[in-house]
Amino acid sequence: MFNKLKIRGGVHAEERKEQSTCQPVRKLGIPPLLNLPLRQHAGKPAQPVVKVGQQVKKGELLATSTGDDVCASLHAPTSGTVTAVGEITAPHPSSLTTQAITIEPDGLDESVPVEPLADPMTLEPGEIADRVDQAGIVGLGGATFPAALKLKSGARQKIDTLILNGSECEPYLTCDDMLMRERAEGIISGARLIQRAVGARRIVAGIEDNKPEAIAAMQAAAANYDDVTIQAIPTRYPMGSAKQLIQAIMGKEVPAGGRSSDVGALVHNVATAFAVHQALYEHQPLISRLVTVSGACIEAPQNVEVLLGTPVSWLLEQCGGLTEDPARIVMGGPMMGQILRTADVPITKGASGILALATPEISKNEASPCIRCGSCVSACPMGLVPLEMARHAKGDDFDGAKEFGLRDCILCGSCAYVCPSHIPLVHYFQFAKGELSAKRVQERKGELTKSLSEARKARLEREAEEKARLKAEKAAKAKAAKEAKARAKAEKEAKAKQEAEQASEESGS
Ligand code: SF4
Ligand code: SF4
Repeated sequence: MFNKLKIRGGVHAEERKEQSTCQPVRKLGIPPLLNLPLRQHAGKPAQPVVKVGQQVKKGELLATSTGDDVCASLHAPTSGTVTAVGEITAPHPSSLTTQAITIEPDGLDESVPVEPLADPMTLEPGEIADRVDQAGIVGLGGATFPAALKLKSGARQKIDTLILNGSECEPYLTCDDMLMRERAEGIISGARLIQRAVGARRIVAGIEDNKPEAIAAMQAAAANYDDVTIQAIPTRYPMGSAKQLIQAIMGKEVPAGGRSSDVGALVHNVATAFAVHQALYEHQPLISRLVTVSGACIEAPQNVEVLLGTPVSWLLEQCGGLTEDPARIVMGGPMMGQILRTADVPITKGASGILALATPEISKNEASPCIRCGSCVSACPMGLVPLEMARHAKGDDFDGAKEFGLRDCILCGSCAYVCPSHIPLVHYFQFAKGELSAKRVQERKGELTKSLSEARKARLEREAEEKARLKAEKAAKAKAAKEAKARAKAEKEAKAKQEAEQASEESGS
């Protein structure tokens, strides 16, 4: 049973999940070309370590994470030749950089040799985090934050409960559901490694109660572990957000502006846990993922296991192609996903779904003025006042929007979903967040310029002082030498005089 604490806000969105769950996950083959953006994670782009023309094997490191920065490594999804390191032709919507590595597969799918590893459960917590880092694993629920950093910070904090996020609340998406149905043991195995890495007392997997097969499979996989619980939680969007999940499972509310660790929780997606299992038990870095391909324009909706870098257009062909021109192609779910301008973009680590949607599946209603009905306020899971935030954001008063809680907005879209005036509330919030973040960057740049200029001024002052000191020292030395010279001359003259006088005295006697 889920926690009795009242869960705030949320909406009951039309699920449309059954279309993609009628057949098992299908492993797709190797596409003719793989495009791997250097930044397919939250943080800085990875640094390439391969050159054009180089032969690479499956699992070989292509780009490395940059030291202590928020970053994740990238590996070759199959063997082949590196044909480009640089600009890609179709920039990815979720990537701030257009830099990528392109591989032309050789069809051999040859892997790099791996060293056999002792039982991963005997590794020290830090070693587990290091191996997760080396495998380039990021949060596969959509956040794409490097998983190793979460493990390292989790180990420093007091984590009581590791929450496995199996809610998958976005309509259409079923890749986590299918992963839990088919690979539950791997998920539990990966979760136990994460538990060891952060020292959590227990693991709770939260799964929405619209996934009975997944719940049963996970319960069977967890049956031998007393500290692992599988918990059904109510089906309500956005149950997959960390704060909602913690509220539903632990009955605790993460304070505004706070983190999950503030209430002793660490949340990882079920697919991330499975990737950790693959990395440590099967020696496979993150080179593929499960993707839901669905929507009314898809011939054969299904879940597929796809190599990272696979072009979306090729992926769609493998699912029977399109039945009609889609009104919209979305990467991710319809509520929080990104609209694709072209199907030439590659599948990246965070791509949980590709949806080819027909006109009736998307809302294209004209926006009308706000009637102050308050529906958006009731729907907001974060307890915000979306209509006021939007009013300020629309008037370019971003600080005003911030005062109404913009920072806590998770861009879930629940408010826009229920708005009878079809006001694109989330667009305002995305824009306002972008402006505030640009302002922060400018402010940081200004502060940096100021501190650099102050440092330069201090350096010039120090140099001038040093110059003056050296000059004074030189003058003092010259003066002393002059005085010594004068003294020597006087002494010489006095001595000569004395000798002359002495000689005169002697001749007179
Ligand atoms: S739901 Fe839409 S119309 Fe109603 S108060 Fe919010 S913004 Fe205004
Ligand atoms: S998008 Fe932001 S304001 Fe709207 S419901 Fe979600 S959290 Fe609340």
